[in-house]
Amino acid sequence: MKCSKDGEFTEGELTRFGNIQLSPSAGVLNYGQAIYEGTKAYRKENGKLLLFRPDHNAVRMQLGAERMLMPSPSVDQFVDAVKQTAFANKRWVPPSSKGSLYIRPLLMGTGPVLGLGPAPEYTFIVYASPVGNYFKEGTSALNLYVEEEDARAAPGGSGGVKSITNYAPVLKALSRAKSLGFSDVLYLDSVKKKYLEEASACNVFVVKGRTISTPATNGTILEGITRKSVMEIAVDQGYQVVEKAVHVDEVMDADEVFCTGTAVGVAPVGTITYQDKRVEYETGDESVCKKLRSVLVGIQTGLVEDTKGWVTCIN
Ligand code: PMP
Repeated sequence: MKCSKDGEFTEGELTRFGNIQLSPSAGVLNYGQAIYEGTKAYRKENGKLLLFRPDHNAVRMQLGAERMLMPSPSVDQFVDAVKQTAFANKRWVPPSSKGSLYIRPLLMGTGPVLGLGPAPEYTFIVYASPVGNYFKEGTSALNLYVEEEDARAAPGGSGGVKSITNYAPVLKALSRAKSLGFSDVLYLDSVKKKYLEEASACNVFVVKGRTISTPATNGTILEGITRKSVMEIAVDQGYQVVEKAVHVDEVMDADEVFCTGTAVGVAPVGTITYQDKRVEYETGDESVCKKLRSVLVGIQTGLVEDTKGWVTCIN
């Protein structure tokens, strides 16, 4: 779908996956004017495809577009494009025990712009790829490294939206952590370097007794759709859920830590390394993480009744 700066998006069309043509002076290439979303289609046991809360991705894209001074498709246009892409790729969707279809809506400034400013034209594309389960054989928990050198987002910046410009700056810290054998980086706030933010592409929760805390969304972390859903499931299950500033000492003193996101699902954290300390956490079948995970994944894959109206069946 295409649109000029203030206009409406035109009807889109389904095409085969392939390269696209861009002007060398496209806004996205020169000034990073682009935002994206990530969602998944799951194959139910009876073969039907399920989407999880795609309208929430649509609304998040609209908020991101506003921050990055871009027009955005309507919620209906967005959801319809996601549904059509999933449906057109249905033969590639593995059974949910093996994986899912990852769907990537991408909105970018494709019009030419030389001086710094918003692009005169925008393109909205949705593409998809089958993906396996997050944890490879032999691993079942994340081992995180608390990053103190590089920050993910600064107050007033674009950390609260899914701008493409948030991701390249974290590649250095991520590859450094991976080369040391960690699965991901845990970011602290960029001002005091003491308060938990999030990992490279997932939100973080800290469990102590029956209280589950997670960093409040104050513009520097992404308001995850999995985060929001897991918080609601946890409240239903009688946990106390608190959004607040979570001090790194609280993280190191927790019973459990877990991450949430479209890619990771609800993933237990096995260890966290901060300065010269390394803490191991509860990750067993009785853990809070595993209990919340089984409800969420059950709803997403159609094994648990969707009493909340979170899933959309598309065939
Ligand atoms: N934080 C960041 C930085 C992310 O990229 C993602 C992935 N979208 C998340 C959190 C988790 O968000 P969601 O649950 O909507 O996938």
